[in-house]
Amino acid sequence: MTAEKILSELISFAVLGGESNLSIIHWIQNYIESFGVDTVLVPNKIGNKASLHCRFGPAVDGGTILSGHTDVVPVEGQDWETDPFVLTDKNDGKLYGRGSCDMKGYVACCLSLVSKLSKADLKTPIYFAFSYDEEIGCLAAPELIEHLKNYYSEAPKFALIGEPSLMQPIVGHKGICLFRTTVNGSAGHSSGIRKEVSAIHESARLILWLEGKMNALVASGSIDNRFTPPHSSIHIGMIEGGIAPNVIADQASFSWDARVIPKDSLTTILSDFTDFCKEREVILQKVFPNFNIKTESLHPPVPPLDTEENQEIVSLLKKIGPRTTTGTVAYAAEAGQFAAAGIESIICGPGSIDQAHRANEFIEKDELNKCIAMLDKLIIVHSNLN
Ligand SMILES: [Zn+2]
Repeated sequence: MTAEKILSELISFAVLGGESNLSIIHWIQNYIESFGVDTVLVPNKIGNKASLHCRFGPAVDGGTILSGHTDVVPVEGQDWETDPFVLTDKNDGKLYGRGSCDMKGYVACCLSLVSKLSKADLKTPIYFAFSYDEEIGCLAAPELIEHLKNYYSEAPKFALIGEPSLMQPIVGHKGICLFRTTVNGSAGHSSGIRKEVSAIHESARLILWLEGKMNALVASGSIDNRFTPPHSSIHIGMIEGGIAPNVIADQASFSWDARVIPKDSLTTILSDFTDFCKEREVILQKVFPNFNIKTESLHPPVPPLDTEENQEIVSLLKKIGPRTTTGTVAYAAEAGQFAAAGIESIICGPGSIDQAHRANEFIEKDELNKCIAMLDKLIIVHSNLN
């Protein structure tokens, strides 16, 4: 099947982040196995989702993993001109559909090479690794990566994550984590504010502390000009609590995210915040003994990607890809997770992030062709290595 035909099949599976992906992953599995290639599913605990991996070539060190996710973001509230789950060719050089660029286009390019890969005389292996639930916090990749490392006796060396980058090699992305902080204070008539502990007043203090933390990082010189903005950002996006203007709120919560440049640490930001929360608890428990502050992460932290220009994967991409200038991106992706597992990683995929997650998402056919050409060259590289 051509990449375009495969893409139209993949687009027809409306699998959103968080939902069961068994329909699309089984289609992919059947497609790969129809070429006589064995695949391995990595199911979640309750068995309604699965990642997939497989290997082409010999069990020797030095292979490259081609990684993509099978889930997409919702289309609700978006003004689509065509059915988002039917790949549509408007004869303008573009193929429209949800996930066409993020990132079923890349997965389709990989799958279009199964026949070639299964017959190639590879000296070092090429792997596929396809995940789920990427769009809701890169949830499945850590388990998939762990499984890959345990399943294969040899060590893969590189990972090529095909998020849309207009085929530019992307060497850096920020790390990210989402948190919810809940403050438990004491209720009462608003006139008693000096003897109760308002969860809203305390939340406001904590929120300003977080903003101050971001500013302090900038002031301390924690800057990385490869990124926009060139510093870690901390932002509170939701806040709730209270029942009336004249009632002291006994509970309030707020949700926030931290997006860190590689030199900053999500763990340190969280532990500094937790230390401040503990200080506040000690002070306010003197007024209300049950006062407490709890912060939970809404998903495991996604580590930043920080591939050095002198790493081998950079020269590999410059050799096989259409673009030789590296860049960074503002979004977080599974690349940081592969890198954290000791695998040299780069993002390079067809299509533009500008089209991702939007109405009338598309991928240019030319981008698919460039991606296939790059993967063709990768096969040649892996056939020639000794
Ligand atoms: Zn994506």
